[in-house]
Formats: sequence, structure tokens, C-alpha cells
Amino acid sequence: LDAFGPLVGVSGADLEVPLVDGRSVRYANLDYAASAPALDAVLADQQRILPYYASVHRGAGYASAVSTALYEQSRRTVADFVGARDDDLTIFTRNTTDALNLLAGAVPAGSPVVCLDIEHHANLLPWQGLGATIVKASRSLTTTLDDLDRTLQRTGAGLLAITGASNVTGEVLPLARLADLAHRHGARLAVDGAQLVPHRRVDLAATGIDYLVFSGHKLYAPFGSGALIGRADWLESAPPYLAGGGAVRKVTVEHTDWADGVARHEGGTPNVLGAAAVAAACRAIAEIGDDHLRRHEWRLRTRLLSRLAGLREVRLLSIWDDCTDAVGVVGFTVDSYDAGLVAAYLSAEHGIGVRDGAFCAHPLAARLGLTGGALRVSFGVGSGSEDIDRLLSALQSLVEDGPQWRYELVDSRYQP
Ligand code: PMP
Repeated sequence: LDAFGPLVGVSGADLEVPLVDGRSVRYANLDYAASAPALDAVLADQQRILPYYASVHRGAGYASAVSTALYEQSRRTVADFVGARDDDLTIFTRNTTDALNLLAGAVPAGSPVVCLDIEHHANLLPWQGLGATIVKASRSLTTTLDDLDRTLQRTGAGLLAITGASNVTGEVLPLARLADLAHRHGARLAVDGAQLVPHRRVDLAATGIDYLVFSGHKLYAPFGSGALIGRADWLESAPPYLAGGGAVRKVTVEHTDWADGVARHEGGTPNVLGAAAVAAACRAIAEIGDDHLRRHEWRLRTRLLSRLAGLREVRLLSIWDDCTDAVGVVGFTVDSYDAGLVAAYLSAEHGIGVRDGAFCAHPLAARLGLTGGALRVSFGVGSGSEDIDRLLSALQSLVEDGPQWRYELVDSRYQP
């Protein structure tokens, strides 16, 4: 197979990490789904705007004016990137979890929520807290959609909350069909885009998605920023997410008149650098182009799957037998070893970073029978064929010869 490199530069691309035998190797980061490395283009943009570091909206000085313009321009960039409708709000948040909790606080009373049991806890617990009907996914995606259809009908739901791509298997849901399904029952569709937006262009107006959330740190921006984009009416009728400065029009000792629009939910000094970083990431990903990005990830994914599936003891995870679309996230187990041990071995003996455990999706992990946890390999624009090849040869050595070192469970982690 031809070797190929990353699409663009990312932070940590040349990081050398120590191995257990004293050697060091280039770090192979195959844990993009947890937090993707920052793009070089994003970091350069942060350097460019740092001289204008100043508070937004309230300052009269030049740097404040530039900072405010940057912040509002970032909002428009994010809205354009996800195909927001003209009257949608784009609210900056800390991350996906924050955005979903904000949205949960804006669902009108008497609007039942429906979701699936395959979700990351961030897209499950806020709805569970509202008494949502949680539908158990079956092995057939078609049947799962039928079950959602019936449940929306039966509950008179106001909101269907669903992930765009599974953080355990990478499987992608048919969002335009889900939007249709929800709308047919008079419900809205909220999509957890944490694992989808970094891999695929999402277009709210074209697909009919009503709300989309995602995290900047999974979209090649540094930690600390995310977004909620969607219909204004619920958000403008809801109590402010954070009561305080900036979220108000007028305050007297007796009464507060809350702001409309995005300001209502952005109380306190916002994360201007974070918002600008998300916008810079959106611009850089848009510049790569959706086709190019998909092709790169498809090549990485097929390279991985074509050999992984053939390795003795390796079992690939999937939620659905009839789901044909997936992003650069692959879950699997190795029969003879706990996932934690495999992850420790990959790091200590090969300098490869993956994720192990139940991936904040306990109901799904239980249903897939992952009592010893599972492994997750994930990649993106900074990954190349060498990362995948190193992983495959390390796994092959493991199943054929076992680890070179002995691993013990210390404080719930395996260590050599
Ligand atoms: N949803 C999905 C599908 C995720 O993968 C994650 C992150 N693991 C989250 C939500 C939560 O994202 P964050 O931790 O950035 O809030």
C-alpha cells in the first residue's frame, strides 16, 4: 500500500515520547476523538490576534473594538460553516456538554424529549434529567428509525436529540432523514455534532437540523470553546443559562430585564480567543474541502480496517449491521487482553496513543458486552499512513507474541 502523509500541520506532529525500554519514538496520536491536536493554522491565527487581547462589548478602547469585531466575526464564521439559517442563534459555549445543558434548559415545559441509548453521556444525562424517553437501538438501523418514529408519535415529543456520529464506533446517522422524521411529528431535531463536525460538513439549512452542538477541542482548536447553533425562539424564551453581566438589558433592585439573542446565554466575559480559534479551525477545514477530507479519512479507515479485521482475537465494534457510513473513529476489543492493558502496551512499547474504557457511553458499552472495556482508534487531518501501519504492526506483535513487558493494574490503570 502507498504511504501518505497528513493533510496539514498540527501541534505535536514531531513529539518524541519515551518507551519503556529507554528508547524514544515519534508519538503516534490515534486519539483525535478525545481531543484533536490544534491546527498550525489555528495557532498562527491565535498569535496574530493576541496583540488585540482585550475585553469585548464593554470597552471603548481600540483593542476592545478589534476584539469585539473579532468575536462577532467568529460567530458569523461558525454560523456559515454549519449552514445556519439567517434567524438561527450561534451561541459560544465551553464545549459540547455545556451546549447540550444550555439547550436542555431551553426546552419548553411540556415538550417531551426522545433520544437513543447509544449516546455519549453528554447527550444522555441532560435529557434523562428532563424525563426523556430513551429508545433502545436495535441491531438494525432501519428498525431503530422505525422505533424512533413510533416513540415520537406515542410521546408527542417536542425534541429528538441524537448524535451525528457515534464516539465509540464512528457510525454516522442519516441526519436529513431524522430531521424529516422529527418534523413529521411536530418535533425538532438536536444533533450532537462532537464527533461529526470534525469529519464532515454539516449544513443545518439543507438537512433541516434544528440545533447543532460541537466542541472546538475536537475540531482542531485549543480547549475551552464550543458552540450551540439553532432556532432562536426556545432559546430566547428560556431563562438565561448564566445570570450576570452581559445577559441583561436593564437591572433594578426589584427586577431584571434579560437580553434577547445570543447575549441572553453568554453572561460573563466570553472566551474571545476560544471563539476565534473555533472560527479559524472552521476556515481551515473549509479550505481543505469536504471531499478532500473525506477521501483522506476514508483511506486511513480502509487501511486500518482491511488488516485489523483479519487479526486473530480482534473484534470490531458496531452498533448497527446495516449502517454503511462512518467517520475516522474505530472501536474494537482484543479477546485475550483487557482494553486497558492493550492501551498501556501500545503506549509503553510503541509510543502510540489510543483511548480505552467505556467512552462515557455506559449504556452502549453494557449492550455491546464490553466488560473489559474496549479500545478506540481515531484520526484526522494530521494523521498519515505511518500512524496506522505502526498501530497494526504493534497489534500483530501483541496477538502473535504477547507483550514484551509485564503489565499490572496500578490505581485502576495498567502499568509496565
Ligand atoms: N458527545 C460526543 C459524541 C463526544 O464524543 C463527546 C466527547 N467525548 C462529547 C459529546 C462531550 O464533549 P465535551 O467533553 O467536549 O463536552
